[in-house]
Amino acid sequence: MKNLNDMPAEEFRKYGHELIDWVADYLVEVGNKPALAQINPGDIKSKLPADPPNEPEAFDLIIKDLNEIIIPGMTHWNHPRFNAYFNSSASGPGILAELVSGAFNINGMLWKSCPSATELEEVVLGWLRQMIGLPDNFWGIIYEGGSVSSMHGIAAARENIKDASLRQKGLTGRSDLGRLRLYLTEHSHSSVEKGAVTLGVGLEGIKKIPVDDKFRMIPDELQKAIDEDRKAGWLPFCVVGTVGTTSTTSIDPIPEIAEICEREKLWLHVDAAHAGTAAIVPELKHILNGCERADSFVLNPHKWMFVPIDLSVFYTKKPEILKRAFSLVPEYLKTDEDSEVINYMDYGITLGRRFRSLKLWFVIRYFGVNGIIERIREHIRLGKLFEKFIDESSRFEKLAPVTLSTVCFRALVQDMNASELNNFNRNLMNNVNNTGITFISHTILNGIFTIRFVVSSIRTKEEDVIKVWKILNGVYERMI
Ligand SMILES: *Cc1c(COP(=O)(O)O)cnc(C)c1O
Repeated sequence: MKNLNDMPAEEFRKYGHELIDWVADYLVEVGNKPALAQINPGDIKSKLPADPPNEPEAFDLIIKDLNEIIIPGMTHWNHPRFNAYFNSSASGPGILAELVSGAFNINGMLWKSCPSATELEEVVLGWLRQMIGLPDNFWGIIYEGGSVSSMHGIAAARENIKDASLRQKGLTGRSDLGRLRLYLTEHSHSSVEKGAVTLGVGLEGIKKIPVDDKFRMIPDELQKAIDEDRKAGWLPFCVVGTVGTTSTTSIDPIPEIAEICEREKLWLHVDAAHAGTAAIVPELKHILNGCERADSFVLNPHKWMFVPIDLSVFYTKKPEILKRAFSLVPEYLKTDEDSEVINYMDYGITLGRRFRSLKLWFVIRYFGVNGIIERIREHIRLGKLFEKFIDESSRFEKLAPVTLSTVCFRALVQDMNASELNNFNRNLMNNVNNTGITFISHTILNGIFTIRFVVSSIRTKEEDVIKVWKILNGVYERMI
């Protein structure tokens, strides 16, 4: 009789221990590896067989290939000098929770399908809501990412349009409705536009409101756009404000935007995917001023709260609208408890849901709220330290205010015109990244190639910031 069982417990234990050691070593040594993968497209594929193995392979061999084939193609997000984009760093307790979550392998679609998953999600999202200072009329749900969260915010906004019966009648062929209009700025995250495209709003239905010299939405311009659109027969329905834009971490004036949304009866969705976490720090609570007036709000603990990808939190004051947009329960998923419990599948596009709240719970308990506060405070101190280096150097100039720990800057070189300077800075960034010492990224601000340096990793220390500063100057000197 052939053995058709799972991996035997003894073997699981042996390799499990081996892999836990492997992970512990990896996290200690990751800073000695290149932050950005130093390989060419196709390098990894060329080392992997095109066909699957027909017969079992030894687990040792899998670990060997992990080391020899996979590791060289890694851009290490857990590297202490991963300073690109908005870093997502995974902490020990979060990583261990993922292991447990994998073992449970639940599907938390219904309360009944895993009561612990549903109730832990409710409780932990209540904790997080208190930590960032949102009032208790906000109801929360976990989705896989900020993009998906914002899409659900826009879907609720769309469902909220008065007398439109969009759930029932849909959007196509609706000559009785004006065309839907959603407002954001050019600094809003691209995922918001993707969400609007997905939901039939279309790129033409999106209006980008001008920003001020600090890259923040100008409320008067928003009001003006709404007035003009209404006159022209558009149907304004949603405004997306951002706390912590992707390029510069600018913060839209949410109180003024909320004022307009209340007056105009528009849904206000706030995207605080990265920066929202900073509101846990007492002296930074003000960054969420006005968010208590939003209809929905997104924050990604997988960005700056040391929770492994993926875990985004969506809060709304109107869960009944979200439910109206998404609830569709087939007979085989009806349960006796439906009237007493939350069935999270009713509040989103996916049926299956993994046990994500477990890692948020592990992380908050392991570090404590104060431990998280102290770490974020330190990242902001390190961001400001890098800002000071830039400010005090005649080689570089800062290109945006540093609101949290994102520094936007460029190098200056005498006698170069605008386009030469853009090229120089692109090369500077690439050359720095090719050293493997750090990974930094870029954006374009007012036509200027802008280098971004972000501190949000649990592994970044002051010595790392100094090391990046030195390598940046070293590469600059070589290029000049
Ligand atoms: C990262 C980010 C997103 C996208 O989040 P994902 O989880 O990657 O989908 C959206 N908005 C802002 C402001 C972000 O920083």
